[in-house]
Amino acid sequence: MADRMRDQVVVVTGGGRGIGRAIVERLFEEGARLYFTFVRHREAAEALVARLAGVEALACDGRDPEAIRQAVETVLGREGRIDALVNNAGIAHSGLLAMTPGEDLDRVIQTNLAGTIHWSRAVLRPMLQARRGAILNIGSVSGSFGLPGQAVYGASKGAILALTRSLAAETVGKGIRVNALVPGFIDTEMTAVMPSPARRAYQERVPMRRFGLPREVAHAALFLLSDEASYITGQTLVVDGGLSSLLV
Ligand code: NDP
Repeated sequence: MADRMRDQVVVVTGGGRGIGRAIVERLFEEGARLYFTFVRHREAAEALVARLAGVEALACDGRDPEAIRQAVETVLGREGRIDALVNNAGIAHSGLLAMTPGEDLDRVIQTNLAGTIHWSRAVLRPMLQARRGAILNIGSVSGSFGLPGQAVYGASKGAILALTRSLAAETVGKGIRVNALVPGFIDTEMTAVMPSPARRAYQERVPMRRFGLPREVAHAALFLLSDEASYITGQTLVVDGGLSSLLV
């Protein structure tokens, strides 16, 4: 066990599976006191809690501001503070905008964007009082580049990058840092549903010719949350095997 996050109280949204789980595991190894949310997959959440002593799972739908308020109160009641928040919870959506039903649109925007805004707002009060905090938002390369079928998902993720910059501007000088992490294609249940030909085609477009591992994203998350990033705010770190920057 190392100690880059020793005794820091961290909340990870959607931490029971995929990238969120890898972030919980990595921060746990560095001594953080962890709380993570889940909504549908209780078994996965319970399995993680059983594996990592002291880590707690909170049933909390990120689309519900009242549930978020209660989750924040629970953590503050136990710990008295929240040092860091990782806005990781998200759902994928693929479909041409003209064919996208309104309810799908609402679900994606509420989960990916509104959830991130509600969670950030809820932790800001205790962070501002403590004059200390780090918020890390998980975006996507779809938030920066045009891809057919990604208009709604890409909009939800692009807006997270805008939120990151303005929230960083609002909190700079108050002990709070706000950054974003942009994963490329990462091996999780979210990408496991891709049909094999599509997966192979995307893999060919990645300069490293492979999808990333959740743990490779988690290493970058640890850095941005830790005091090693004490002079970094309002930034976006891209973890995508070269996808967005190399023409090879
Ligand atoms: P997964 O589908 O593996 O996991 C999604 C997580 O989000 C789960 O823990 C899920 O909880 C949680 N979640 C979904 N909806 C809600 C909600 N309404 N309230 C609370 N939690 C919710 O996805 P990934 O791990 O792949 O993705 C994690 C993040 O990374 C997402 O924001 C995604 O958009 C982003 N991302 C992923 C990429 C990839 O290639 N995998 C690429 C770029 C970005 P539960 O287990 O209870 O369902």
